[in-house]
Amino acid sequence: MNSNPLTHLSRLPRFAEIQPEHIEPAISDWLAQCRAKVDAVVAAHADKAPSWESFIQPLELIEDQLERAWSPVSHLNAVMNSEALRSAYDACLPKLSEYATDMGQNKDLFRLTQALVGSADFADLTQAQQKTLENSLRSFKLGGIDLPAAQQKRYGEIQQRLSELGSRFEQNLLDTSNAWKKPISEAAELAGLPESALAMAKQAAEADEDCTAPYLLNLQIPCYLAVMTYADNRELRETLYRAYNTRASELADNPDWDNSAIIEETLALRHELAQLLGFASYADKSLATKMANSPGEVIDFLSELAAKSKPTAEKEFAELQAFAREQGAETLNAWDVPYYSEKLQQARYQISQETLKPWFPAPRVIQGLFDIVHRLYGIRIDKVEGVDVWHKDVQFFAIHDADGLKRGEFYLDLYARQHKRGGAWMDVCASRFNKAGELQTPVAYLTCNATPPLGDKPALLTHDEVITLFHEFGHGLHHMLTQVDYPAVSGISGVEWDAVELPSQFMENWCWEREALDLFARHYETDEPLPEALFQNMLAAKNFQSAMQMVRQLEFSLFDFRLHLEFDPDWDASQGNRTQTVLDEVRQQVAVVTPPAFNRFQNGFSHIFAGGYAAGYYSYKWAEVLSADAFAKFEENGIFDSATGQDFLHHILEQGGSQDAMTLFINFRGRKPSIEPLLRHCGLTT
Ligand code: ZN
Repeated sequence: MNSNPLTHLSRLPRFAEIQPEHIEPAISDWLAQCRAKVDAVVAAHADKAPSWESFIQPLELIEDQLERAWSPVSHLNAVMNSEALRSAYDACLPKLSEYATDMGQNKDLFRLTQALVGSADFADLTQAQQKTLENSLRSFKLGGIDLPAAQQKRYGEIQQRLSELGSRFEQNLLDTSNAWKKPISEAAELAGLPESALAMAKQAAEADEDCTAPYLLNLQIPCYLAVMTYADNRELRETLYRAYNTRASELADNPDWDNSAIIEETLALRHELAQLLGFASYADKSLATKMANSPGEVIDFLSELAAKSKPTAEKEFAELQAFAREQGAETLNAWDVPYYSEKLQQARYQISQETLKPWFPAPRVIQGLFDIVHRLYGIRIDKVEGVDVWHKDVQFFAIHDADGLKRGEFYLDLYARQHKRGGAWMDVCASRFNKAGELQTPVAYLTCNATPPLGDKPALLTHDEVITLFHEFGHGLHHMLTQVDYPAVSGISGVEWDAVELPSQFMENWCWEREALDLFARHYETDEPLPEALFQNMLAAKNFQSAMQMVRQLEFSLFDFRLHLEFDPDWDASQGNRTQTVLDEVRQQVAVVTPPAFNRFQNGFSHIFAGGYAAGYYSYKWAEVLSADAFAKFEENGIFDSATGQDFLHHILEQGGSQDAMTLFINFRGRKPSIEPLLRHCGLTT
């Protein structure tokens, strides 16, 4: 294995050489080296006090190697998937997670960290070093490391059970979704559906052995949304709505897949876990690693947004009702809302993603994006040829600052293709890390799934795809422009999770500004700039039903947060189901579309019952407030004002996770975040 490119690391991964058989031996080897280093470091401090150099630095060095070996593997698994690659990747996952668990439970490391934080040397460390150590202590404590033995055992049991419950929740949802099918014998029953949705239903019928009808509907998201949005047949919409919104509940066809008991057990165990760790509730525990300081702050934040957007949401809903009535629908049920909304939007704006594409040829958009960040931050981005990449479509770029110093590099993999995971994301290839004088500059992967070029035309992006590219590039800049030298808090590392989306959503704003669009939105054949009428239409369509969307997100956020905050182990079941009661109260407060009594949305809310969003769903809105308010400073000073750009660069992008996100925000904005700019951007204030 001498030539294993994952064992003998180079500055940039040697993608062309990486074979599936290299993966497991290399990762096992790095993990063994990491464990050996931990043992050696612990042994070296048997009768010696730890210092940053003797304790933290050796561990950071070895873990950086592990990260740089693993990152191309996990990246290739996502963008060049094959069976051999996937099985090598899957074989490493349990080893990596076992290592992480062992480190989190290592009492020697905990003791040494405590000793260093408590030592006289601590005050001499830099802000970033102190933050690294504080974060580390916090995660040891959240992992239950200093609990008495009996409680620690209970902590482990709860964790284990919660992870089982999470995967059963997801599995039930999947089973109940997969089991539901509706054969359709006449195309007329599907009137209104676009060609692509019909083709999808036809394909589903052909693929299903038991189906003799020409079309088959199911509850997969593309099919469900197509029916809800386009099917003229109201009964059909109601049927699908009912099936979808009773999934994994006592009202679904198969009661074995009911998630109701899982929900109650999960909430009870989370509450117990939080109390074991000394928190009043699971919501309090959730906030320990977030920017929001207290549950009250989150509730007030969501309630204020709700109070300010509900009147407009009611108005939007009344307009929709009036429109539906004109179309002959006297009542507007939950299964009519998406259908008439689509009709109303078409009637008002006649704008579609297709209309705008000729103004967004990919090469121009990319250059425009680079021009914008050059004007904002003074950085220069150049393409670098001859770098080893995993696919011919991938481009490589280097970023230099105004002084000519290299700040970072990135791979850009823009187009959809087979064996590439869907969606868009930024991932870390290497982190900024000052290795005792030798500086490692950050490297990022930027991945999108835009429609590839057809024939000799350039790829034409939809406006949504342009926004996605800007969004991911925002994450990328956060990672690459950091000036923090310690990898645990450099770039996006160590940033509170409700603040991580600030730099990314912030970049999206430039996709809606005339002055910015003029830098790149030009017709690919005629070079004509985006016509003003089209631009105005685009802006108007942006805020279509924005208040209704806002209150819907607030409904989910408040439900999630209150459910975890107000958990009561002594709840008297004769008062009814607690989860449903909280949901009903929240809907009373914020919703404008009241769902029918049979709706069991909560039984499919996998974000909070099977994902990582428990008592954290509010983060979506929280980060939107931050990014809108940050952009408002540019609106005040000029969207290309370079002094404001430098402020954002120095106070936010360069700082990574080295300080609390609230402190950084205040340093940039001169005050705490305000919700007004978000309301204004959504058209919710005058
Ligand atoms: Zn993002």
